[in-house]
Amino acid sequence: MEQTLNQIFNLVTDPYTGIAAWKERLQKKVVGCMPMHLPEELVHAAGLQPVVLWRSNEPVTLGHAHVYTFNCGLTRSVVDDAVKGKLAVLDGIITYDLCLQARELPFIINRNAPPAYLETVYIPGPVTAPVYKDFLLENFRNLKASLEKFSGQTMTQDALRQSIALYNRQRGLLRQLYALRRQTPGLIRAKEMLAIVQSGMLMPKEEHIPLLENLIAELPKRTVSSGKKARVVLSGCMCQTPRFDLLDLIEEEGMAVIDDEIYVGGRYFFHDVAETGDPLEALAERYLNRTIPCPTKVDWTNHWGDYLVDWVGQQKAQGVVTLLVKFCPPHLCYYPDVKKRLANANIPEVMLEVEHEVVSLEQVRTRLQAFVEEIR
Ligand code: SF4
Repeated sequence: MEQTLNQIFNLVTDPYTGIAAWKERLQKKVVGCMPMHLPEELVHAAGLQPVVLWRSNEPVTLGHAHVYTFNCGLTRSVVDDAVKGKLAVLDGIITYDLCLQARELPFIINRNAPPAYLETVYIPGPVTAPVYKDFLLENFRNLKASLEKFSGQTMTQDALRQSIALYNRQRGLLRQLYALRRQTPGLIRAKEMLAIVQSGMLMPKEEHIPLLENLIAELPKRTVSSGKKARVVLSGCMCQTPRFDLLDLIEEEGMAVIDDEIYVGGRYFFHDVAETGDPLEALAERYLNRTIPCPTKVDWTNHWGDYLVDWVGQQKAQGVVTLLVKFCPPHLCYYPDVKKRLANANIPEVMLEVEHEVVSLEQVRTRLQAFVEEIR
């Protein structure tokens, strides 16, 4: 198991080398997909290998000439990596227009470091009327045609169904791992869990599934320290992985993360895609109706704050740690209302800003110490 975890940490720490290695071995074209809503299954069914774009561990330098310093860490990091030539490991990139900062990416990348394939998908923000499903389906059909042209391979309905089944298999195994952590808080460190999820975004699902099976078999044998910890859940953190030292700090201060609904976490796999009916419609349906409420979507029938209140109750969590990506307008717009709803339900909550750059962890530690005193 330690070997599996090492393999996972190596990949998420240095995706460039890891992806280059399996790409060479599998001889497949690799397409980077912007988080959070692109249907990777479509890329896979076209005979290509999707990976989810990631935030690098390096400070942004050259990228600052091309992207605003008040963009979120992920978009700044992707631009920086692109202009430094580090994304040359990708044969293609797919972005979408769902938030303002992601919307700029294709123009900047196309102008400064164009890959062989660059596509933008238009995904509706509002989701409640039938017209949005038609619009989304039309854009998924356009993406399918564009991927077929790039790969030179026709995507059959059966191929798409098989890809959906493969992705659902991975989602199911990740849910099993999360269930293990809920049963035994502390069994899996928060950073381990997020590294496990992120590694699944950076390697073929066919190779990630056996790693997950190994972890599910071996992790229950681990010895867990018996000290009493406060049970908390993580919320938010759109698009990017939080810094691991921040997660360590939460645990060092006497909390056990029992669940999360962040993107590089539960949000990525919580809901399956239906395996019956038209597969393209099933992918559209998942985005429209089968995701955890997301601030990049406008859906007044399914409020994020209300969802959190119910979910926290189900998990019997003592508090919520909100991870808010600095300069992420969708989350910033929703946060005050979510905070109010949690407060109205007497659920303690603390918000930590997630930055790409180095932050003062000692200030964060002081806030976490105050929070843990409140919830114990
Ligand atoms: S949703 Fe937030 S984190 Fe994601 S790309 Fe947009 S601004 Fe960045």
